Amino acid sequence: MTAPLAAYEPVTAGPAAIEKRPQERYVAPAKPSLVGLSREKLAQALGEAGVPERQRRMRVQQIWHWLYVRGAADFDMMTTLSKELRAELAQRFTLARPEVAAEQISADGTRKWLLRLPGESADRSHEVECVYIPETDRGTLCISSQVGCTLNCSFCHTGTQRLVRNLTAEEIAGQVVLARDRLNDWQRAAAPTGADPEKRLVSNVVMMGMGEPLYNFEAVRDGLAVVADGDGLSISKRRITLSTSGVVPNIARAGSEIGCMLAISLHAVTDELRDQLVPLNRKYPLRELLDACRNYPGVSNARRITFEYVMLKGVNDSLADARALVRLIRGIPAKINLIPFNPWPGSQYECSDWEQIEKFSGIVFDAGYASPVRTPRGRDILAACGQLKSATEKLSARERLALRAMAMTD
Ligand code: SAH
Ligand code: SF4
Repeated sequence: MTAPLAAYEPVTAGPAAIEKRPQERYVAPAKPSLVGLSREKLAQALGEAGVPERQRRMRVQQIWHWLYVRGAADFDMMTTLSKELRAELAQRFTLARPEVAAEQISADGTRKWLLRLPGESADRSHEVECVYIPETDRGTLCISSQVGCTLNCSFCHTGTQRLVRNLTAEEIAGQVVLARDRLNDWQRAAAPTGADPEKRLVSNVVMMGMGEPLYNFEAVRDGLAVVADGDGLSISKRRITLSTSGVVPNIARAGSEIGCMLAISLHAVTDELRDQLVPLNRKYPLRELLDACRNYPGVSNARRITFEYVMLKGVNDSLADARALVRLIRGIPAKINLIPFNPWPGSQYECSDWEQIEKFSGIVFDAGYASPVRTPRGRDILAACGQLKSATEKLSARERLALRAMAMTD
């Protein structure tokens, strides 16, 4: 069933709305995929396929290995299972990954996949992005948590989109499986224990694609648990960063229940400006947000919080802003990521001039923070995020550079 039109209306009517309601629910296909399932759900699925309870643990372990270490995309690869069981599983389930609607590859190896996810009705599918950003010391996969976003940040293209559905935990973990497939990364990723995890193409994950992950908490938590599982995809929690616009009550939960690294979309140093840029600030103002950061479970100099700051010309990029920024986060073990604003059709902002970004980052650097906007040239600095592109369009130089800024969370 398609959601009625009334459901598209913001929770608070009018331009000042902070949040919209999600409009659709996930409807599982008749033949579901086992990819992305947690151990518990996998055991349940095996039960449905008639695997006796006493065998389930062992079977889960075997299938887990095939799915997340070997990257099996066909039940027939699972040679440690009997032919009968493989046939039974193939009758009931698939090993489908999220469907790729379009792929863009840049000369430097950056790849962007547009994924097609099922909608509530068969005639309406959804699209989200997943981006792979290779760098010399790591390869970062940027994954999505929602179709669209219920929040309305004024500089973000995703925020202007109305249609929203939460991704399932399986769709979240499935993005990592898909990237390993597409990059032919399974063998490298499965290298014997002790092998350098940086040798893998996908060594890091950032939850900085479409959506607000802390508004889809359980699915994000469960999906990331599959991604971090040491007997499977095995991307350590220290290499997983979740970015939030500041859903304060769920920040502590992210620390204790997910245990990943945290990035905060700060973007402004006063409540007055942040209320405009990130309307969620009206619900959870700066003081509460920074308190949540100070108290983030596990935060330390070795596990710093990343503060993201999008550079908007004449809006938040003065040198006084830079000084206020370092004052504001004083005492919090932190890194600062300056993200060049990536304009989109109809956006009301411009990216700061490169010289201004350099001066701004100089102040941040002098205050003792690594200043990760390392791009040398001004013209092609900009970042990319949450912007669906047509299948034929190539990633622009500015998008690639912006993506890099976002990937630099270590
Ligand atoms: N919803 C989460 C995560 C997704 S957005 C959040 O807001 O943190 C990932 C990052 O890209 C956020 O810091 C976001 O503020 C930033 N961003 C959004 N639109 C942008 C744009 N047009 N240019 C540059 N950065 C942008
Ligand atoms: Fe949503 Fe993040 Fe975009 Fe804000 S910046 S609208 S929270 S995706």
